[in-house]
Amino acid sequence: MRLVLLGAPGSGKGTQAGFLKAKYDCVHVSTGDILRRHIREKTELGLRAETFMHEGELVPDVIIIDMVKERLHKDDVVKGFIMDGFPRDIRQAEAFDKILIEMNRQLDAVLLIKVDENVLIGRLTNRRTCRACGKILNLLDVTAETKNCLDCGGELYQRDDDSEIVIRHRFEVYREQTEPLVGWYEGKGLLRTVEVQEHYMPEDTFKGVKAALGL
Ligand code: AMP
Repeated sequence: MRLVLLGAPGSGKGTQAGFLKAKYDCVHVSTGDILRRHIREKTELGLRAETFMHEGELVPDVIIIDMVKERLHKDDVVKGFIMDGFPRDIRQAEAFDKILIEMNRQLDAVLLIKVDENVLIGRLTNRRTCRACGKILNLLDVTAETKNCLDCGGELYQRDDDSEIVIRHRFEVYREQTEPLVGWYEGKGLLRTVEVQEHYMPEDTFKGVKAALGL
C-alpha cells in the first residue's frame, strides 16, 4: 500500500496510520515524528527546524524534502508506506511526485480524514503522548488519579505545539497551505474521504478508513 493521509491537525492521521501499519505491514512515515526526534537528539536539522515547529509554522522545504527522500530510500519502504504530514502544500506535492517517479512508484490513494474543526481544537488541547511507548491519548480518557499511559503506565506529556494559541495558528496554516491539496489530488483521481463524527472512537474511524480505501 502506498498512501498519503491528509487531514487537519489532530484529525487522527497518526493513530490511523498506526492501525494501517499493523494490519497491512507497511511503514509509517510521519515527518512531524522525524522532526521531533531530531529536536530531541539535538541534531543540526533539529536545531534548524525547532523554532518553526514551536510557532506552528511549516519547516522550510529544503529541510523537509531531503529528509523525506532519505527516509523513502531505506529498504523497509519496499513493503509500502503511509505518508503522514507530508506533503503539506502543493510545492511539496510536486517534489513528492518527482521522488516517486525516480523510485518508479505510484500512489494508490490519498485519504482525507475529515473532522469538524471545533471538535479538533477540543481534542488537541487534551492530547497527550506517552513518553515510554508513544501511544497518543486524550486526557479525558485517563483516570484522574494516575494520569499515566493506559497501556504501559508511562509518563504522559503534551506536545509543545499543542497549546491553544499555536493550535489555532496551525489550523490557519492547514487551511491556507495544506487544504489546496484536496482539490489537487481529487483532480488526479486519487482522493478518498472518510467523514469522522464527533462521537467516533479511533476504531470507528478505522472502519470508515477501510471502507473508503476498499480494504
Ligand atoms: P505534525 O506532527 O504533522 O502535526 O507536524 C508538527 C509540525 O512539524 C508542523 O506544525 C510543522 O512545523 C512541522 N512539519 C511536519 N511535517 C512538515 C512538512 N511536511 N512540511 C513542513 N513542516 C512540517
